[in-house]
Order: sequence, then structure tokens, then C-alpha cells
Amino acid sequence: MEISEANMDSFGIEVILPEEGKTAPRCPHGPTLLFEKVDNGGNKGRRFYACSACRDRKDCGFFQWEDEKVSKARMLAREAEMLSKRPRFTQQECCSRFVQFASLPFIEKKFCEDCQILLLPAEHSAHSAHRTTAVTAAQLRRPSILLCPLDNKKSNAQYLFTDRSAHFLLDTLVGLGYKKVLCVGTPRLQELIKLRNLEPMKSLLLDIDFRYAQFYSQDEFCHYNMFNHHFFGGEASRAVLDAFLTEADGEQVVMVADPPFGGLVKPLANSFSLISQTWKKLRNSGDSNIDIPIIWIFPYFFEPRILECLPALTMLDYQVDYDNHPLYKHGKTGRRQSPVRLFTNILPKQVVLPREEGYRFCSMCQRYVCSLNKHCTKCNLCPSKDGREWKHCSACGKCVKPSWSHCTSCGRCALPDHPCRQGDGGNGCFSCGSLEHQRKACPLRDMRRKNRDDKSSPGKPSKQPIVSVQLSYSNIRNNFRIF
Ligand code: SAH
Ligand code: ZN
Ligand code: ZN
Ligand code: ZN
Ligand code: ZN
Repeated sequence: MEISEANMDSFGIEVILPEEGKTAPRCPHGPTLLFEKVDNGGNKGRRFYACSACRDRKDCGFFQWEDEKVSKARMLAREAEMLSKRPRFTQQECCSRFVQFASLPFIEKKFCEDCQILLLPAEHSAHSAHRTTAVTAAQLRRPSILLCPLDNKKSNAQYLFTDRSAHFLLDTLVGLGYKKVLCVGTPRLQELIKLRNLEPMKSLLLDIDFRYAQFYSQDEFCHYNMFNHHFFGGEASRAVLDAFLTEADGEQVVMVADPPFGGLVKPLANSFSLISQTWKKLRNSGDSNIDIPIIWIFPYFFEPRILECLPALTMLDYQVDYDNHPLYKHGKTGRRQSPVRLFTNILPKQVVLPREEGYRFCSMCQRYVCSLNKHCTKCNLCPSKDGREWKHCSACGKCVKPSWSHCTSCGRCALPDHPCRQGDGGNGCFSCGSLEHQRKACPLRDMRRKNRDDKSSPGKPSKQPIVSVQLSYSNIRNNFRIF
């Protein structure tokens, strides 16, 4: 199984945030996270450590029981793996290479597509069998176009903003008077800030994709893991963030994060809180109630989860869309609507959503909403989450999706074809109690079977009990019934 937000609950797996003074074992992605499996009866299971960044075991196979003794040999093997996964250049090397590269004549400016690196003249022959391209000055300023998006679906899926969304975000931040943008996993936003030459606006990119270090100076990029707040460049890199978060002469900072969608909300929220705490400390204005202004970009169906972790955030109706995501495109022309939204602690009425894209201001809610999102006088809010017009159900006492109707046997609104409590012998799922699927489709079943298999081979240490079911994007979609 992949450890993603969408299936953590259904598998009863929880992240235990690190306690002060307790050190987690490390994988190539920094300190691992501690997980705990809770069974149906609410009994706590054995805890284990797994990679914070990679939700697919194929990308990082780190696994260790909390109470497990690790042999010397395994420790050494781990260290060897960490060394082998280190980037081929240090960040300092990347920076001096960039300076050299930028001063080369055009005919000597080459990028190796196979290795995803800028080549210096002395290296051309070594890459002669690879696919290389020429690099114009304009391309050098657009690394998000030059680099091919990592499409590793689970760990590092890179979905780049369309121009529409990137410009909207930046215009909004400029309009609100921010002078420094902390870009957490938003390389295209960082790029746009530099491209548009919005002096004196500054930006710092924190991202796990080290390829970006080739294009930015050391105070513009930190190699960072947002699931464990880990700086691969150690203290020096942390100091870069501290310097950036220090607001001199009213240079207000805002943070914009666009994490991979399968990512776990709790550890992300924890990292963002740590960034906010650092910002507060550096600010020493005495008002510890104020948090760093933040825009967290994530699908709307994670709203309850995000608000549980960061209650000060509000979800806005703006639909963020992506160039290279087949599904998450802006609505209107019959294309599917993007489920991705902004979660922010900026006052909602200050984030002006463009009228020409179909947003309007709701004076009752004091925020901009999608034009189809009609204010409900009974709920006293604009209820729609998905951009469609929702309708009020008086039996449920709230507004629901237009495709739902009230089911008297379930006592709630649901899709007409839902596995009904009293319909055709189905009681939803006997295994996990979910009404969304029948037992034969229960993802838990496969896991139980896997656990059984593990237990039935005594003597062999049972490895990775959670590795059996792969929930793909489409499963995540089905689970949440986005569309
Ligand atoms: N829409 C954004 C890109 C979002 S894709 C834009 O156009 O700028 C998610 C981004 O998060 C990618 O840049 C990816 O490299 C980064 N990322 C993925 N996992 C990460 C992690 N564990 N820590 C930090 N950054 C991560
Ligand atoms: Zn790892
Ligand atoms: Zn209503
Ligand atoms: Zn109802
Ligand atoms: Zn029903």
C-alpha cells in the first residue's frame, strides 16, 4: 500500500509527529516519519518508521519497526545508499557552474536532457551519446520549462501552474503588498517572480527537486523536504530561510505551498507551523497569535483534514489549474473543473477572484465565490465546494451536491446508486463499515490477507505489512467522489 492521505484513514494508519528529543532513523530523504496502525477495534498496533517523502515503497524502501534492533551491516548498507543518492554536484558547485554557464557563448550552451544538467564545454564529449539541446538566455530563465517535470506519480509528481493561475497568484500577492514570497514546492511561481522583474520583490524556493539548484543562487534555493522540515544543506541552508523570513523595512513575507496531492496533511501542516514559528521568533513583535501569511494549494476534498490541522485557514473558491495535468484544467469549455483550491489565513475578502473567470463577491459571506455557488439563506453561506450549484436538503439540514438525493433508509443524501444500507442485501462494507463500497471491494481485505501471509511464515521477519495494495490516482478520486 502507498501511504497517502487518501487511504490512511481507511487503513487505520496514523502519523505520530516527532516528539522533542526523540530522533527518528534517517533515509536519503532525512528523518523518517513514525506511523501507527490502529485496527478496527481501535487497538493500537506496532509502530514503524517509513520514508516521509516517498509514498511508494519503490522510490524509497525504508522500513523499520519502532522497537527493532538494526544490525551493523544494515546500518552500513543504509549509509552507503544515502551516499549513493547524494546529488552529483553540491549546491555551491551548482552555483559556480551556473555563473560559468551564463557567460558562455550561445553555441556552447548545452543542456543534457538525459542527465537533466547544464553542461560545461569540457563535459560535452562525455554526453555526446545523450540527447542534448541548445539553451537560449530566455530558456535559462525558465527552468520549469527546460527541466522535464518529474512524473513519478506518487512521490514527486510535478504539476506546473498554467500561466493563468501563476499570474493570478502573483498579481494577488503584489496587490496585497507582499515583498517576499517563500515558494514551497512552487518553482514556477519563483520563476515568474524573477521573470516579471518585480523589484523589490524577492523569492526563495524550497523544494526537494535538486535540479533547480542549477539555476538559482544559494539565497534563492534550499534543497528541502516539506514532509519533515528537513534541510538537505544543513544549518547553512536553514540560515538562508531565517534570513529570508527576517522582515526588514516592512518587507512582508508570504508563503505559498503546492505540495504533491497524495501528501499527508498532518506532517505538511507540522512543517508549515514550524516555518511560521521561525518567522514569529525572528519577528519578535510580541504578538505570538499572528501566523505567517500562507497560501496552501490543495484539492478541496482535503478541506476537513486541513482545517483540523490548521483551523485558521479558509478555503477559497478559486480553481487552480495545471499545464501538465490531464484532469485538473480550468472549467468553462466543458473540460473538467480542477478540484484544486487555495487554503489561506489571508482575509478572504482581500483575495479578489477575477470576475471574467466567473467569480463574484458574496456580501453575506464577505468573500469571492464561484458564480454558480449560490448563497443559501438556510445555511447562511455559499455552500458549493466543487464549483457546481449545490442544493439544500431540509432533511439533512444542509446543502449537498446536485447529483445527490436524500435516501430515507440511510438517513442522508447520497448518490442515487450508492450501496444503500437496506438495498439489495448490501450493508456497505462488512470489513470496515464504509458505505462507499462492498466488502469484496474493500482495500482492507487485501491488507489483512497480506498480514496473514506474513504471519504464516514464522522465523522470517514480517516485512512491510502495508505494502500490498496500491491505490492509484483514480482510486483516490473514487474514494472522494470529486466529479
Ligand atoms: N504548481 C507548482 C508545482 C507543484 S508540483 C508550480 O507550478 O510551481 C509539487 C512540487 O513540490 C514540485 O516542485 C516537487 O518537486 C515538490 N515536492 C515534491 N515532494 C516534495 C517534498 N517532499 N519536499 C519538498 N518539495 C517537494
Ligand atoms: Zn526516503
Ligand atoms: Zn443550505
Ligand atoms: Zn439529505
Ligand atoms: Zn441509502
